[in-house]
Amino acid sequence: MMPFIDLAAQRARIADKIEAAVRRVIDHGAYIMGPEVYELEKRLAAFCGAKHAVSCASGTDALTLVLLAKGVKPGVAVLCPSFTFAATAEAVALLGGTPFFVDVLPDTFNMDPASLEAAIAEAREKKLNPVGVIAVDLFGQPADYDAIEPICARENLWLLCDAAQAFGATFLGRKLGTFGMATTTSFFPAKPLGAYGDGGAVFTDDDELADVLRSLRVHGQGVDKYDNVRIGVTGRLDTIQAAILLEKLAIFPEEISARNEIAARYAQGLREVAIPPAVAQGCESVWAQYTIRLKPGQRDGLVAALKEAGVPTACYYPVPLHRQTAYRAFPSVGGRLAATDQLAQEALSLPMHPYLGAEAQERIIGAARKHLG
Ligand SMILES: *Cc1c(COP(=O)(O)O)cnc(C)c1O
Repeated sequence: MMPFIDLAAQRARIADKIEAAVRRVIDHGAYIMGPEVYELEKRLAAFCGAKHAVSCASGTDALTLVLLAKGVKPGVAVLCPSFTFAATAEAVALLGGTPFFVDVLPDTFNMDPASLEAAIAEAREKKLNPVGVIAVDLFGQPADYDAIEPICARENLWLLCDAAQAFGATFLGRKLGTFGMATTTSFFPAKPLGAYGDGGAVFTDDDELADVLRSLRVHGQGVDKYDNVRIGVTGRLDTIQAAILLEKLAIFPEEISARNEIAARYAQGLREVAIPPAVAQGCESVWAQYTIRLKPGQRDGLVAALKEAGVPTACYYPVPLHRQTAYRAFPSVGGRLAATDQLAQEALSLPMHPYLGAEAQERIIGAARKHLG
């Protein structure tokens, strides 16, 4: 079976650099908030054009830190998609807020602006006190910020971009990290820019928000570190992970190009037998996942046929959040998320990583065409 995401191929490419970087940290001994953490924050901010990058312990912590800073608590609602990884809504619910689920567009898998507008009206009608929106840049592609930003501005809601799967992606010539009030990302190993453990970051141009986030990630510490001025968390990024990420960031632009070449080849090879993912005009995805859509009832058979051919697949997301045990009780717009439910049945993700060679890819495409054709 070929790997679904081949982290070993990347490791082989930069093993010497990573080992040297880790050794430097072990030798200098500043394991917590060492110089590599600050260097990484500087480089990440420069990479995406944000004024501030605040690193933290995970993508989930990144979301939680922003929501803490914005005062999310019982009695407020935050609008977010259901077709996403649990952490998006979890951070809201953990703080006692109400995630209000919005539908997605079937072609890009990202938040449907019309559904968002309907959800805002419904949340207000139900006196749920909506305060903000979390848009998710699913599978590596930016959400439609051209539509979503003006809605949030008009409705006086803050906008948080959950780019856990999409750091490095571009929307209308701008990298993610500069949209909305803040952007969060994850350095979980399987994400496009992954560490060798957990990690995350928040990007913002807001000086005051950045200061609060830096305080919250260290227990809410104040200027005097023995005077905690707010309730925070232990949310720092390890220095060793920062050192590893610095080496990975250096090859990230090349990896993004490789991912896009692979995505183009998939689209070319599969468009007659399945629906390839749509990339919106002016967007560049980083292809955290390459997710095709199939006709009803086709998925299980294709999964089995590909497995037989030594090709692993993954299903993101077979059970959307609004149908999961912990989230069922939270409201969905109109009580029904038609596109989300449809995608949960139709979507299938194929192997995707920058080191997927043309030959391996032809094998995947060939096996899929043979089964579906
Ligand atoms: C992975 C992911 C997260 C959480 O990131 P962790 O670093 O695993 O905590 C949040 N949102 C989305 C959309 C994700 O894919």
